[in-house]
Amino acid sequence: MKIDLEKLKGIVGQDNIKNDIADLYVYGSDSSVHNALASVVVRPTTIEQVQAIVRYANAELIPVVARGSGSGMSGQAVPIDGGIVLDFKNMNRIIEIRPADMLCKVEAGLVDDDLNRALKPYGLFYPPLPASSRVATIGGEIANNASGIRSVKYGATRDSVLGMKVVLANGDLVNLGSNTKVEASGYQIDRLMVGSEGTLGIIVEATLLLKPIPKFRCIGRASFDKLEDAGEAISEIIASGASPSMLELMDNIAITAVNTTLNMGLPDVEAIVMFEADGKVKEAVDAEINFMKEICEKHSGSDIETSYDLKERTKLFAGRKKLFAALSRYKEGLSCTSLADDMAVPYSKMAECASKIHEIAKRNNVVMTAYGHCGSGCMHTKILMDPTKKEQWEGAKRAVDEVYDYVRSVGGTTSAEHGIGLSKAPAWKKEKADSLAIIKAIKKALDPNNILNPHKIQDAPDDWITATKLRYPVE
Ligand SMILES: Cc1cc2nc3c(=O)[nH]c(=O)nc-3n(C[C@H](O)[C@H](O)[C@H](O)COP(=O)(O)OP(=O)(O)OC[C@H]3O[C@@H](n4cnc5c(N)ncnc54)[C@H](O)[C@@H]3O)c2cc1C
Repeated sequence: MKIDLEKLKGIVGQDNIKNDIADLYVYGSDSSVHNALASVVVRPTTIEQVQAIVRYANAELIPVVARGSGSGMSGQAVPIDGGIVLDFKNMNRIIEIRPADMLCKVEAGLVDDDLNRALKPYGLFYPPLPASSRVATIGGEIANNASGIRSVKYGATRDSVLGMKVVLANGDLVNLGSNTKVEASGYQIDRLMVGSEGTLGIIVEATLLLKPIPKFRCIGRASFDKLEDAGEAISEIIASGASPSMLELMDNIAITAVNTTLNMGLPDVEAIVMFEADGKVKEAVDAEINFMKEICEKHSGSDIETSYDLKERTKLFAGRKKLFAALSRYKEGLSCTSLADDMAVPYSKMAECASKIHEIAKRNNVVMTAYGHCGSGCMHTKILMDPTKKEQWEGAKRAVDEVYDYVRSVGGTTSAEHGIGLSKAPAWKKEKADSLAIIKAIKKALDPNNILNPHKIQDAPDDWITATKLRYPVE
């Protein structure tokens, strides 16, 4: 593939082109296990520049991989066919905030926390709030349909996106969606873009629905000696009609990880459930919290602590917030890999799913933890293993297959929020077998030359270990 660097420099200027080997290496990875080398990294500053780059790439059949911050965990932003990595760092402006319409318009490269900081003086917030909000961009979140701890109440990104401007594969700019909360009929192409991982169009601007910051917020934490009891408490909280603004589970491996690496002093039990309520009336928040507390007690939850105080709340939630970092240091020689790392199962299967994950890990000689935004049905795991050993990868691959076979058997889904990319594609393709032909037809219609993030999701290789490069030096 020959790329005309002079042409690209003419579009974005010399300073916005990166092609030394160190840059290409860094931009060849995200937070997944995969790695590849981009041919060039290009940083556009305007929509017109994005259009010109994509138009050129389409004419020359050069792959274009949009990139926010590279925090995706499934290899979504890894340029496996090389080509142009389109880095959105320079397109991070807030275009307007319209409190009366409860919306804002922003560029795709804006970081989530930066947006929420700017919204605070207006008493508003943008709800999806993934744990990676310090780095994740609005474009990356839309392309992944990201969600987070408060999605149980406020929904995923799809529920907070009203519209967007998208550059299509031929370089045309289209305005999708509207400035209204409802838009009833016809094909909703903006919704199709959400979760499309840069394979159908390049998002350059977004119109986002905002929520008022609740006046009161109270968090609770309960300990459970048995994982099943924690699962039953979660199912009952949801089925009872309670309205948690957060409902999280941590298993014993997660608890041990934060205790040993961060000295958190969490109770050494089989499971911890964290719950939260928020709102503008304190009595209503009190009622919600007490209701959830009683359900936890009914299912043998103990040591229950609750607090409205920001400092105390931060302390109660700290273990969960720092879990990913803690897992990375769980045991000397084990690395924390994002494999089979997120899925969703029906509420009644939460505890069973966590136990299955432990059982599968043991059988395949790897360590796996179970935790997640269980209020939304979302379960996370990570595989802790020695990534330099070939047999550990074989065990990990078997474990991933077995986890997803189980998830499918209970009517769950491969991807709750972390995207599909490369590592989750084989399982996702099995799950979507009935609609794969439609999905491929949509991709063909919108990107006939297959230049937008090619060989991802439905077109990704079936064996993610042998068909892609790994970030680790395997013996
Ligand atoms: C510690 C940690 C915690 C995390 N916690 C969560 C969590 O709680 N919830 C959650 O949902 N995710 C979580 N993630 C995963 C990740 O942060 C999200 O998927 C996030 O939305 C990715 O944003 P990004 O800007 O880093 O995108 P990138 O990783 O750069 O890109 C991801 C995908 O989006 C596409 N893309 C990026 N920008 C555009 C654009 N402008 N137009 C079209 N396509 C684009 C890319 O091509 C790629 O396919 C976590 C990750 C880490 C490392």
